[in-house]
Amino acid sequence: MKDTPYRGRFAPSPSGNLHFGSLVAAIASYCQAKSHEGVWLLRIEDLDPPRAIPGADLAIIKELTRFNMVSDEPVIYQSHELQQHDYFKALEYLIDNKHCYPCLCTRKMLIQHDIYPNTCQNNLFPCTQEHAIKIKAPDQDFVFIDKIQGTQSQNIQKQCGDFNIRRKDGLICYQLAVVIDDAKQGITEVVRGIDILDSTGRQIFLQQTLNLTTPVYAHFPVLTYANGNKLSKQNHAKEIYGEDSYELTRMALQVLGQEPPKLTIKNQGHMLRWGIENWDIKKVPSVKEVTFDSETRLD
Ligand code: GLU
Repeated sequence: MKDTPYRGRFAPSPSGNLHFGSLVAAIASYCQAKSHEGVWLLRIEDLDPPRAIPGADLAIIKELTRFNMVSDEPVIYQSHELQQHDYFKALEYLIDNKHCYPCLCTRKMLIQHDIYPNTCQNNLFPCTQEHAIKIKAPDQDFVFIDKIQGTQSQNIQKQCGDFNIRRKDGLICYQLAVVIDDAKQGITEVVRGIDILDSTGRQIFLQQTLNLTTPVYAHFPVLTYANGNKLSKQNHAKEIYGEDSYELTRMALQVLGQEPPKLTIKNQGHMLRWGIENWDIKKVPSVKEVTFDSETRLD
């Protein structure tokens, strides 16, 4: 029997152009998909319109094109009506099946709690006050084999407790949206940064509750400079607009453990091709952090 055709994705939030960390995510997911002769899709995760930078989506698409990575199917936007419709349909299903409750807690009330103290757990719908919608976390270990990080076990109740799937301002939360989108786009494997590893248990729980298939997961390590600074958007990583695409692709493959050669002709397309042809996910370091040495400052 032939395996299901590989479908992977890259799902940036449009809060700026690509930075080196997100380029690594794009290259890792792209090489993994293309080395499996798979489809690679781009999804813009713009669930939070006030935080989206106008034009960042187009800048990302343009920059990915400069790096020879183009979505094999039309780009999906989480803010679009078609997507939103499906999120709210899933939300309705979860409410109808008594998995959720309205939560009136304010951010201030929850600030000292890592785990939700179940304050609103007995609240019922309908609720006339402005409310968030929380889903009840089961006391269950969600075990999965991460292709890079190995076997993982996450208990949502011990990790964060009941969690929001719709915010007080009415916006759908990432955990619910990503699960619907991955299922709808038929994603078979998710390759992304380790900062999202902790979310995976919640996503598997939502998939199981909504009768959706769980993809395979692979989380690559966060990049850290020798001085301990993490290369992330939160740390204001520098956007890579205009940087040498050949060199950045080579560096990305290097931090992903792939040992790329220095090509005589410094051509980005050739470097990416080398990456696909020689890609081996088993070589990606199975650690949480990789110290990253670069002559080019990228933060
Ligand atoms: N939108 C998330 C980010 O930009 C990625 C989410 C995911 O890959 O599941 O960090």
